Amino acid sequence: MKLLQELRSSLNRLFVFELSDHSRVEAVFYRGDTLCLSTQVGCALGCPFCISGADGLRRNLSAEEILGQYELLRSALPVRRIAFAGIGEPLMNWEQVETAFWHFKKSGLGVSFYTTGYPTSKLRRLLQLPHRGVTISLHAVSEKKRKALLPHAGRLQDLLQALRETLKELPKRKRKRISLAYLLLKGVNDGEQDLRAFGELVRELGLSATLLRYNPTVKTYQDVEEEEYEKAFLLLRSYGIRVTLSTRFRKDSLGGCGTLTIRRV
Ligand code: SF4
Repeated sequence: MKLLQELRSSLNRLFVFELSDHSRVEAVFYRGDTLCLSTQVGCALGCPFCISGADGLRRNLSAEEILGQYELLRSALPVRRIAFAGIGEPLMNWEQVETAFWHFKKSGLGVSFYTTGYPTSKLRRLLQLPHRGVTISLHAVSEKKRKALLPHAGRLQDLLQALRETLKELPKRKRKRISLAYLLLKGVNDGEQDLRAFGELVRELGLSATLLRYNPTVKTYQDVEEEEYEKAFLLLRSYGIRVTLSTRFRKDSLGGCGTLTIRRV
């Protein structure tokens, strides 16, 4: 495994790695302390708005390859936090991801996860770990809409059941670190009814919300206007829940959410 290329924007540093079979994955250093790592070469979940999974899943990364992304950069970067938020669904490669997780923890790094929550058996295990945060992509509160946006992420009903059951077992301080993400897509899931249903669900589960803006990488989907974004934020806040917004790092054209790829030229 070797570092092939580094690209920089004013905010993020993106690293392209070549693996021993010539596959490529990417990692991003952002916020001055966080390294976002890939867990798979491609992704099987096929979310139509994301280019990371555009070619399907090629293969899982081994724990060594997940750790290798950090090892190759650690002497050059002040990494204090790891985010499993790059290419791939961490729960679909759970054993290798969990091995890497414990290694990072032993090295004193905080570790957070971004996941669709599928498969739910692994989500239950993830939520019990001493993580620094788990953000679960919901993006829609109706079965039909979520199926269109996350076609291979299982049934929403199963995800919610797993969440309800697992949350009951977690202490309050752990529940505080779990968030449901909602990626606002213009004309798709940005209606008032959709957002109200999301706000109600987040309140009912006692979690927080992460309201994300879209990095336009696939032409079919569009980001909302600033004004709409603010309105959505205020509407969700009216449910008395904590709402985290997209940071400028996540919205950056280089290395922002959904922009990593296994075929960068
Ligand atoms: S958004 Fe995440 S889960 Fe969906 S295809 Fe992209 S990498 Fe996979």
